[in-house]
Amino acid sequence: MRFDVISLFPDLIKNAFAYGVTGRAIKKKKITVDALNPRDFSTDINGRVDDRPYGGGPGMIIQAEPMITAIKEAKKNSENPHTILMSPQGKIFCQDKAKELSKVEHLVIVCGRYEGIDQRIIDSEIDEECSVGEYILSGGEIPALVIMDSVSRIIEGVLGDPDSVLNDTFSDGLLKHPQYTRPESSKYGKVPKVLLSGDHELIRKWQLKQSLIKTKENRPDLLKDRALNVEEEGLLEEIMSEEKS
Ligand code: SAH
Repeated sequence: MRFDVISLFPDLIKNAFAYGVTGRAIKKKKITVDALNPRDFSTDINGRVDDRPYGGGPGMIIQAEPMITAIKEAKKNSENPHTILMSPQGKIFCQDKAKELSKVEHLVIVCGRYEGIDQRIIDSEIDEECSVGEYILSGGEIPALVIMDSVSRIIEGVLGDPDSVLNDTFSDGLLKHPQYTRPESSKYGKVPKVLLSGDHELIRKWQLKQSLIKTKENRPDLLKDRALNVEEEGLLEEIMSEEKS
């Protein structure tokens, strides 16, 4: 998969992706990451890319011309680019969207700065707008990295163990159960006995129950949206009766 990011701070993107899982994915050629700076496409003598908003108001707006030229340049890298604008006005990004985007071959991701970008960029070049949450950040780079990271780890061959993706929180609509590693016992507490039992069925049931407890506590909305199976319903009743006693 190829990512081309349009950003006034291209090094921010390239540097952040050089580490860990994503760094290895680049080395293994599972993903390609490049970043283009609209400043390099500015026709202004000083490389200026922003100006004051028409109609008044605070701050500066990124101009259409250099941004659109940079986007068009990035789009040349494949036959079928899909272009996303990072924007607090976009639809909220989620794991299902990450899965959908992991099937795309070429993503062009546009990062705004200042007060935002000229509407003509959106009208002529953008397929969809994505937000990473209901808060305002100072630029689209961190949101772009969020999307690129979550999409990358779904792509086959990026994670060492493909089961990791299937086991992640959200992958089956529940939050993940608590996890432990060595040592078995320390001054911070003991590992629950069941995990040491070697009884896979007992462990599966314990993990499912813990997932339900965590989801009920932190994200009850997920439980409402989910068609519970008989086992999950039984465990949920058990959890509620334990809470009462
Ligand atoms: N004045 C704008 C916000 C500009 S913030 C407004 O009210 O909508 C500057 C840039 O940061 C935006 O153009 C966008 O690219 C990025 N950004 C800020 N918050 C974001 C969020 N929650 N999700 C995605 N991108 C965001």
